[in-house]
Amino acid sequence: MLIGDQWITSDTDALDSVNPANGSINCRITTASAAHVDAAVSAAREAASAKSWRDMLPHVRAQILGRISDGIRAHSDELARLQMIENGKVLSECKAQVASAASTYRYYAAVCETLGSEIPPSRGDYLSMTAYEPYGIVAAITPWNSPMTMEAQKIAPALAAGNAVLLKPSEVTPSVGLAVARIALEAGLPPGILNVLPGSGAVTGNAIIHHAGVRMVSFTGGTQTGRNIATVAAQRLIPVALELGGKSPHIIFDDANLDAAVNGVVDGIFEGSGQSCVAGSRLFVHRKVLDRVLQMLVDRANALRVDLPDAQGAQMGPVAGFRHRERIESIVESARREGGEILAGGVRPGEERLASGAFYRPTVITGLDNHATAVREEIFGPVLCVLPFDDEEDLVFQANDTAFGLASGIWTANYQRAWRVARALEAGLVWINTYKQLSIATPFGGFKESGIGREKGVTGVRLYQQSKGIYWSMNPANLPL
Ligand code: NAD
Repeated sequence: MLIGDQWITSDTDALDSVNPANGSINCRITTASAAHVDAAVSAAREAASAKSWRDMLPHVRAQILGRISDGIRAHSDELARLQMIENGKVLSECKAQVASAASTYRYYAAVCETLGSEIPPSRGDYLSMTAYEPYGIVAAITPWNSPMTMEAQKIAPALAAGNAVLLKPSEVTPSVGLAVARIALEAGLPPGILNVLPGSGAVTGNAIIHHAGVRMVSFTGGTQTGRNIATVAAQRLIPVALELGGKSPHIIFDDANLDAAVNGVVDGIFEGSGQSCVAGSRLFVHRKVLDRVLQMLVDRANALRVDLPDAQGAQMGPVAGFRHRERIESIVESARREGGEILAGGVRPGEERLASGAFYRPTVITGLDNHATAVREEIFGPVLCVLPFDDEEDLVFQANDTAFGLASGIWTANYQRAWRVARALEAGLVWINTYKQLSIATPFGGFKESGIGREKGVTGVRLYQQSKGIYWSMNPANLPL
């Protein structure tokens, strides 16, 4: 772990970092106890209140963020491989995520240059000003599916805003956070401004969210964990930003370009083995084109190359862990019991060289209604449920009949319909004739049980600031004689 400028190793309660592609142990991970969390808060408090950080002009902070971005780019191969051996995503996707993380630091360096106070026109005898101040110490608690990008999306704006950060990476993927922190120190980030505390949610995460020194929590992960964290934050009356789960509807109308739509659906659910919060896991297809789309999907799913994540041409690696695969398998079993027809996948791959990894074939299920377990629950795996619809009203009702509201996708040639449906969907993101395209400049977050708050974009930095209204009288009568 990293506390201040101290790299601490300990065997007490150490965890194994396991490579899901072959079950081997990558390394042992030191975990942070409540006492370590307390030490990290002290280091962060000291660093955050030091004049050199608190009073640093935004453009100087921006230079540090820019150097972190350069450092990430310079170490991109190493970082991509580190992520790959911990969460099993194919190397090309890991490389893209490292590039995205570097761009995130670069983007918030630019945003940081623009930060300042606002002075609206005043009545004449007083000046009013809105100053934006950091909370002091904020916690970033992150999941395992995309640690490079998820962590950058929190750390970069929190630093731009002038905070110190306690990063609690997922216990499954702690290594890239530690590696980026080393890069940040080399880039001139003052020690104590970024501390990395690996460990379980139950011990390390829990100690962080309860610590009186932590003034804001930014969390990405499962909906139930988000609910637990929000409950603690409510008791402590501290703000939380929550990026949670999804069960996103992907919609194909009968006038869509079916080749393009099926490409979008395949990438939208099978990229990253379906372990993406925005995975388009519920596919609604107009009944007129249902049979054709199902055939195209089955052909594509059966042809997808599931392989070791660094194998040339691999399209899908393993899922991130063996217990996670068991959960996916049990939900697919429930789909069978509830009357679903497994048209593709539903099994582990047969190749001998993949036998010791947590691999699972891309799976297409039909014949379930919107209330089946596999359709309602976030599976977070390569499992697509396909449902028919008859008209737009029926479609919008079914698409919104979910507790989640993160993303959605629409394929149609009819622009009026695209617009109507986009406005009717209860989701924080809508893609029209594309899927999973993301920009750091566009705010990201969910409706309903998919979250509270919006990361990314210029406004992403405001999550990590509190405003202060300052009124200053210009009336000379109020000054001493
Ligand atoms: P998770 O909720 O199990 O864990 C996320 C993080 O929270 C981990 O670091 C974990 O150790 C920590 N944690 C767990 N219990 C805690 C507690 N009581 N107090 C403090 N911290 C605690 O999620 P996961 O399995 O790592 O990730 C998968 C989930 O993340 C999926 O539901 C997925 O949809 C979601 N996700 C959402 C987004 C988004 O932007 N909306 C992005 C990626 C992943």
